[in-house]
Amino acid sequence: MEKIAFLGLGSMGLPMARHLLSAGYPLTVWNRTAGKAAPLAGAGAAVAATPAEAVRDADLVITMLADPAAALAVADALVPALRPGVHWIDTSTVGPDTVRELAGRLPEGVTLTDAPVMGSVDRAATGDLWVLAGGPRPEPVATVLARLGQVTDCGPDTGAGAALKLVLINAVIGGVALTVEALRLGRALGLPEDLVRTELGKGPLAGALARTFAEGAHFPVELAAKDVSLATATAPLPILDAVRAELLARPDLSRRDLSALRG
Ligand code: NAP
Repeated sequence: MEKIAFLGLGSMGLPMARHLLSAGYPLTVWNRTAGKAAPLAGAGAAVAATPAEAVRDADLVITMLADPAAALAVADALVPALRPGVHWIDTSTVGPDTVRELAGRLPEGVTLTDAPVMGSVDRAATGDLWVLAGGPRPEPVATVLARLGQVTDCGPDTGAGAALKLVLINAVIGGVALTVEALRLGRALGLPEDLVRTELGKGPLAGALARTFAEGAHFPVELAAKDVSLATATAPLPILDAVRAELLARPDLSRRDLSALRG
């Protein structure tokens, strides 16, 4: 099987990398905070000291990093070590502008696929993510993406997956924020929360309500604020501007899952 370098072992990257390792792929991993690689080393992954060392012998490179600054910083370190014929998949949520900037730095003969994901840590662990793929998908890219979850083909344009990810995640974050306010309104009106929840669950916000009470997810409020910021920097979105202000006003929740907004 192809040799994979996996860079970024945060809440999402660690279970995704572990899933690929258990599928039999030879894996070399790197993370800025080196200690987070220990569980994978114990499971048979090689641990690299630098991004360049991680990608040097890889057929496929996968990155799962926090934000545009992280993706660009890691790109600085890994791009000079990419061999012609290597395929790079970026699964981070960074938006299409950053993806196109990464693509502009590629050496000759290297492909980049943007493949951000919907679904949280629970679905990362079981290979049940919803993968939004843009740009070229030669083998082994397509096969490895299918290992991570169900793939939506966003077309051949690099950055199309990153763009659709911003649309979908902002709809979810906005839906959760609205659901939290509906629950708050119900409390202010003296309605039993069970009644409000049951009836909201019968309407069009049922999915947002389920996400508001999700238990296996860990999508921190600070990453949600990053995603709303990427959206509001792109288009006039006054409702999401208000959601962004609300998220940034809760530094106490910054590392807690989005569902913590319901208080
Ligand atoms: P996370 O737990 O905060 O992990 C972030 C990763 O980025 C860590 O490996 C971190 O390294 C690394 N990183 C941050 N800044 C860096 C820098 N300047 N240089 C090098 N590495 C850096 O985040 P996550 O939950 O795994 O999310 C990762 C990405 O997936 C984000 O774009 C997020 O929006 C997206 N996403 C998250 C979820 C979710 O439910 N959590 C779901 C779908 C998509 P350290 O360990 O050294 O800090």
